Amino acid sequence: MRIAIIAHDGKKADMVAFLQEHKTFLLQKDIQLVATGTTGSHVERAGLQVKRVASGPLGGDAQIAAMVTEGNIAAVIFYRDPLDRHPHEPDIAMLMRLCDVHNVPLATNQATAEMIIQGLT
Ligand code: PGA
Repeated sequence: MRIAIIAHDGKKADMVAFLQEHKTFLLQKDIQLVATGTTGSHVERAGLQVKRVASGPLGGDAQIAAMVTEGNIAAVIFYRDPLDRHPHEPDIAMLMRLCDVHNVPLATNQATAEMIIQGLT
């Protein structure tokens, strides 16, 4: 099962804390993580293996959206920062739309991320 992790800069620390909290679950053999570029480097520093795609502003969200479309993502955990502006807002909207099109669970805040992990456990 592949889980996508994305965090905007203002939320990366929260995302790392979340991963640490759920590390035992995430280290299971049948779980693979994929993340946008900078998020991925934080995930690696948290001690988890991750496939890194491009950084969000350079198309990483679009790459993950394509994986969603191909049926290769079980859930997307997206620590969005609602208080900041992002140059790649169209890509973010596309990713969220494609999660809805393909009925892929999408968390955009910590509360929902917790529920997704509970649902997958
Ligand atoms: P990043 O991209 O992980 O490369 O920072 C995340 C995003 O802004 O979508």
